Amino acid sequence: MRNILLLLLLSLTMITKAQDSTYVKLDTSSINIDNALTVIVLDNFVRDACKYGLDSNRVVNHITDLDAIYISDSLSDKLGVTIYVTDSLSPIEIRGIIFINSDLLTDYSIYQITLYHELGHWFGLDHKNGIMSKNSKNIYKILNKWDKNVERLMKKIKKLNYSYPIH
Ligand SMILES: [Zn+2]
Repeated sequence: MRNILLLLLLSLTMITKAQDSTYVKLDTSSINIDNALTVIVLDNFVRDACKYGLDSNRVVNHITDLDAIYISDSLSDKLGVTIYVTDSLSPIEIRGIIFINSDLLTDYSIYQITLYHELGHWFGLDHKNGIMSKNSKNIYKILNKWDKNVERLMKKIKKLNYSYPIH
């Protein structure tokens, strides 16, 4: 009897663990997106989050709270920007839009790191090092150690408990 109980407990923990890292596909239909590349990068972001043990459901829900991710040709020297405003009518009391510089459309990896950076802001992270660096001069160094930097980003998001930009 004791053995059966133990087995039951073990299998229950295994089920819970498996559920934590189950990949949930992001449905982008509620976000205004003007480029197919954005959809691909968002999917990579969710897969990476899942890979590093984040709750895929929470990540997907958090991203879906964004109103839009647009390509912009008026960001001058900025690679990307996350704009958020308070809105008491929104369930999360905040609305967010990410803009990515249209110049980056020709370079997939720079596009991806920029969108990961802006999503980092949307998950409440401020500028620091790695993907959240304010300065883009180290961008190739960060790309060279992409997996390590993605892992760090995901851990920070988890630690901040999937927060929103401070408003
Ligand atoms: Zn930034």
